[in-house]
Amino acid sequence: MSQKASNYVPYAFRCFQGFTVSDIKEFQSSRQMEIVLEKVDDKVHICGRCSGELSHQGGRYRVKARHLRMFDWTVSVLFWREKRFCPNCKKFRSELIEWICPTSPHMTMELAFWINRLSEVTSVLQVSKLESLDKMTCYKVDKHILMRLLQGYQPPKVTEICVDEVYARGPKQLKQGETRDDLFLTVVVDIRTRRVIWVSKSRRKEGLDEFFRLIGEEACRQIKVVGTDQHEGYAASVSEYCPQAKVVWDRFHLVQKFNEALNEERKDELERIDPEGEMGDLINGKYRYIYLTKAKNRRKRDRRHIEEVMRLNGKMARLEMIKEHFHKMFDCNDKMEAQVMLCECYEWAWQANASHIVKWIWSIMEDERFWNYFEYKVTNGLAEGINRAIKGLKWQAFGYKDMLYFSLKILQKCGYLNHRYFLAPTN
Ligand SMILES: [Zn+2]
Repeated sequence: MSQKASNYVPYAFRCFQGFTVSDIKEFQSSRQMEIVLEKVDDKVHICGRCSGELSHQGGRYRVKARHLRMFDWTVSVLFWREKRFCPNCKKFRSELIEWICPTSPHMTMELAFWINRLSEVTSVLQVSKLESLDKMTCYKVDKHILMRLLQGYQPPKVTEICVDEVYARGPKQLKQGETRDDLFLTVVVDIRTRRVIWVSKSRRKEGLDEFFRLIGEEACRQIKVVGTDQHEGYAASVSEYCPQAKVVWDRFHLVQKFNEALNEERKDELERIDPEGEMGDLINGKYRYIYLTKAKNRRKRDRRHIEEVMRLNGKMARLEMIKEHFHKMFDCNDKMEAQVMLCECYEWAWQANASHIVKWIWSIMEDERFWNYFEYKVTNGLAEGINRAIKGLKWQAFGYKDMLYFSLKILQKCGYLNHRYFLAPTN
């Protein structure tokens, strides 16, 4: 090919390593273009399986592969793919074509990257419709590119992380030998940037172990704070790999647990009183959320509801006070202040005969991981935005059965496994 500037051939026609363009066919009515390729004379033939050099030819077959669209034209490339003898494999093998997607031999890598790029912003189903491709093909291609990106992926340096579990699939999808823990994924978030930096399968200790082994000993030593829920598996992993790190129970999960205890109290009270009476209806399960909401977040109607209940029922009035006090405690600026408030909660719960709450407070009171909160203030394990993004992902894909793919998608949408990071890693 001439090197003269006047003979410039657009790159779109030159990106087929080992081949040159011999003909271009255009079909005006269907807006289709076919680029016919011919192999270069000095082409080196590589085995598609073992990457060794191939020797004599044994046959060839015609391949038509979809390429990137140009303007509004659908573009395909046509070429002969050769079968040659591989001395390593001792078999006839198809030659390797670098610019063809390995999982979908009827698509160029250029198009594969574009499919992957599109699927960063919308679902695979929508991408397949947009590009008139089969949905399964798009899914395979997207996964292939993500796997490739993963090979070059190194989690960023971190000092504060949050570890959380994400519910990924229903119990019906459990395979043999799996337990409930396998329904979840372990998600590691960098607290500073609020981005997901790793996802591993199951919520067992091994899930977090995997992350610590990946970043290596030196990086583990840099980790100062790990926010988790009250999951013992994660705590065990942290003490094994990052013994210097402080484990902090995050506020979101603590409030959740407190609410569970509070709800039990309401149920007990409902059982104790006459269910047919005036009170019975007011503290019924259908009003559950009213009791668990913070006072300042309640709607006007709910506020009137709670006032009426507090007037009629002494215990419910006390529970309301304990709940508000418990929430306020998280605003404390130091441990001492918080200790006083939690003790008050405990005392009031004791006086109100609220045994579920008494038991629960007792279970966290002596634990350093709870008090660490007031030093490091680790909030929601998964930041609101991330949680919503993950839920959106599941909804978009009508639930994921392929757990590896789901993990990759989380890293793509909420982390760094995407084109921005790989093409311009400094940004
Ligand atoms: Zn081979």
